[in-house]
Formats: sequence, structure tokens, C-alpha cells
Amino acid sequence: MIKNFINGEWVVAASGKTFEKRSPVSNAVIAQISEAGRSEVDAAVKAGHAALAGSWGRMAVNERVELLYSVANEITRRFDDFVAAEMADTGMPHHFNAHINIPRGAANFKIFADVIKNVPTEFFEMATPDGRGALNYAIRRPVGVVGVICPWNAPFLLMTWKVGPALACGNAVVVKPSEETPQTAALLGEVMNAAGVPKGVYNVVHGFGPDSAGEFVTTHPEVNAITFTGETRTGAAIMKAAAEGARPVSLEMGGKNPAIVFADCDLTAVLEGTTRSCFANTGQICLGTERIYVERPFFDTFVAEFKKAAENLRMGDPHDHATTMGPLISQEHRNKVLSYYRKAVEEGATVVTGGGVPDMPPELADGAWVQPTIWTGLPDTAAVVREEIFGPCCHIAPFDDEEEVIRRANDTQYGLAASVWTRDLARAHRVSARLETGLVWVNSWFLRDLRTPFGGSKQSGIGREGGVHSLEFYTELKNICVKL
Ligand code: NAD
Repeated sequence: MIKNFINGEWVVAASGKTFEKRSPVSNAVIAQISEAGRSEVDAAVKAGHAALAGSWGRMAVNERVELLYSVANEITRRFDDFVAAEMADTGMPHHFNAHINIPRGAANFKIFADVIKNVPTEFFEMATPDGRGALNYAIRRPVGVVGVICPWNAPFLLMTWKVGPALACGNAVVVKPSEETPQTAALLGEVMNAAGVPKGVYNVVHGFGPDSAGEFVTTHPEVNAITFTGETRTGAAIMKAAAEGARPVSLEMGGKNPAIVFADCDLTAVLEGTTRSCFANTGQICLGTERIYVERPFFDTFVAEFKKAAENLRMGDPHDHATTMGPLISQEHRNKVLSYYRKAVEEGATVVTGGGVPDMPPELADGAWVQPTIWTGLPDTAAVVREEIFGPCCHIAPFDDEEEVIRRANDTQYGLAASVWTRDLARAHRVSARLETGLVWVNSWFLRDLRTPFGGSKQSGIGREGGVHSLEFYTELKNICVKL
């Protein structure tokens, strides 16, 4: 059974409640998980405060930095365990876990250790009327116990993207992994103990959202700040919970990201980039593309070539290195995605490719598989063009001029990411500046120096993470003025 990790110990919930985790690949039950109740969440929060009051709270930055390096090294030492656990929970192909998810997870501890080691302090020598002067400076203090609420779509990468900076800044965390992906958060507990991180600094409570561990963490009065990645609707509920006690929130939420393809683009690059942005991780990436706008003279060529690229994807066992697309996370999510596949047809879409469920070999037939799907012919008002689907699908529409496409790309409640494909550099800068998103890629996708700010505008997010920007959330700046 997968247990909760509280104060460095493995804890089974006093209620005895458990829930099942099913494989996305086969639908077989692969784990039983102990569901934390209010008392386990309370114990985790108290363990966090005890750690802050103890050696962790007094630890010098250099020592903390060394510990984070040990955590990263221990993840690397147990690389195969992490890859296997993440693959079992998500069904994500091996290469995505081995080359992105798990290495990035380990890197998240090193990067933020380096950030905190090198962050400058504001310091001013002040003049005072008596001529003796004063020294006025600011120091960063941890915010306390941070509630970390995580999604299932790149579980280890996204969880460590929060836990790394939170710990680098000297906080303690209570992590609530997604009910769909409990394993790597649990493994990280083993890593924390092996690396010698003091008890209570990293805690994990398993369960669901409402009336379960998620809600118990976000409503706990001694949780000092809450960081969340997930759906916009859930983020809004968490913001309400955080309002009680006026606690700060950092929210990374949904998207309906556009790609804008001008006729002068590099066809090979745009095909490679948009195939990844639409179909990598079976479309379950917040930064993924679900709307493509193509300049009219290039539209037919692009649609024909993109269809071929989608049809070349190979679905199958994630352990098979030839597999390029895994299943969706769960049957529940597949039902949601397939409901959009039906809605697209009802709304009058032309199905360029896909639109249903693929034929899979008997051992995989019960998995959460769907075909990569491309639609054309819908108005911008159609539900599948407006709502986040979070599956391997996109709608392609033609456009005639720059003003028009900027307006259409911005016509959404979301503002996470966009990509622009053109050889005209002046146009690339012009369009990028006017897109109402937190991130814009030019002739690329998913490329980012981890020191730069990451986050969404509009209903895609509140706050920025990455490099020094994470410090804004995970620390309190304290002003100290010393009269000389
Ligand atoms: P979700 O909102 O359903 O769940 C996320 C987490 O919140 C889970 O751990 C869940 O148990 C918990 N939760 C649900 N209701 C809660 C409540 N009332 N109180 C406290 N916790 C609650 O999201 P998901 O389906 O796991 O993830 C997919 C979504 O995440 C997509 O919308 C995607 O765009 C978004 N996402 C955004 C980013 C980003 O950086 N902007 C990154 C990845 C995923």
C-alpha cells in the first residue's frame, strides 16, 4: 500500500480509508493508497511547523543548499525507480520520463539551490539628521508551511518545480499529489530520508480534492501559503479557501493555447514543433496547442502535412522505445475527451484524422486510448475551439492578416502560452508582444531557460515561478534598519 509520509515516517490513515490507482495502459489496479483524513493532514502541518522551529529553521543557507544537492543526487541514483513509477502512474512513454520528467525533477532541486545561494540582498547606507547614519537592508525569510497541490499530467516535474524552491527558501511543505499519480511523491519521501533532510520538512498526504486531503490542506489555518497547479475551476476554489486567513496563493492553471503559422515559416520546423505541442504526452500538457491558425495560402499544405505527422504517431506500451504516444491518464478523462470528439462533429467540424478510439492489441484494449485528432471548419465560437480539452487534438483555421489573427488568438479567457512560426523577425517580435499570454515561443515550443519567469495571464494563472521569480512567493522580504 502507498502510505502518507508525515514527519519522516510512513503513515496509514487512522480511518483505514484507501483508494485504488488503475493503470492508464491496461485499466488494471496497480496500487492501493491510504487516503489521508483531517487528522493526518493536521499531523503533517504540525510536523512542518516543528521542523521550522527546529534544526531546519536554523540551518545556514549553505548547509540547506548541500542538502538539496544531495536530494538531486539521490533522485539520479534512483533514476530507474522514478522512471518506472512515473510510467506506471501516467502511461507516458519512456523517453518523455527518461529525458524530461525525471531529469528535470532532479534539476529543480539544484537550480533553486543555486538561485538561493546567489540571490543578492538589498542594502543601503542611509544619511540621518544626526549625521551618524543607518544601515537599511532586506532579508528573505521563509513563509512557513506551504501547501503544494499538484496535478497528474507531468507529476514529478511539476511537483518538484514547487518543492525545490519552497525548500531552497527554507520552508516546509505538505504535498497533496494528484489522486491519479501518487507514486513519485511517495518515492521522494524515501529520497528525503536518504539525503538526510530533517523530519517534517517534506510531507505527503494522499487523497482527492473536495472533502478530502486537498481541501483539508487548503483550508488548514496553519498552512501559511498555497501553491497549486491544475484546472482553472479548482484554482478558483483554492483561492476562496485561501481567502480565509488572507493567505497567499500561486496558481498555475489551464490554457487554450494558439499556434500562429505564417506562410513564410520553415515547414519542417513547424511540423516538428506543432506535432509535439499538440500530441506530446497525449495532449495533456498545459502549454500544449489546441488551436492552430494558418495563413491562408499555406493552409491546405499545412493541413495535409500535419495529418501525415499525426497519423505517423505510434501508440503502444510506454516501455516500448518505439512508442511515441501513450494513453490518457484515466477512463474518466477519456470520457471527457471523447465527449469533445463527439461535440466537434455535432458542431459541424470536418474530421481531418482521428476522432475516435484506436484498435489496440488485447493486452492494452482496456486502456484509456484515443486517436490523435485534427479538425477544421469550425467557427471560433465552437466549444472545442474555446474550451480546454487536454487531449491529443486541435482545430486548424485559416487567417488572412496579422491584426485578425492576433485578435482571434487573444479571444479567450485563457492566457498561458502561444507560439508564432515565421521567418520575419520583425513580425515575430510585433506579434509576440501583443499576444495576451505569459509565454510566447517563436519558431519553437517548450524551450525555456529555467531561470526565466513562467506563468499564465488572464484565467491561466496568478504569479510567476522560475529562477528568482519563485522567491517572490516562497519568501517574505523583511526590512531591517539599524541606526548607527
Ligand atoms: P485538477 O484541478 O482536477 O486537480 C489538481 C489537484 O487539485 C489535484 O491534486 C486534485 O486532487 C486537487 N483538487 C481538486 N479539487 C480541489 C479542491 N477543491 N481543493 C483542493 N484541492 C483540490 O487538475 P488536473 O486534472 O490534475 O490537471 C490538469 C489541469 O492542470 C489542466 O487544466 C491543465 O491545463 C492544468 N495544468 C496547468 C499547468 C500550468 O503550469 N499552468 C501545468 C500543468 C497542468
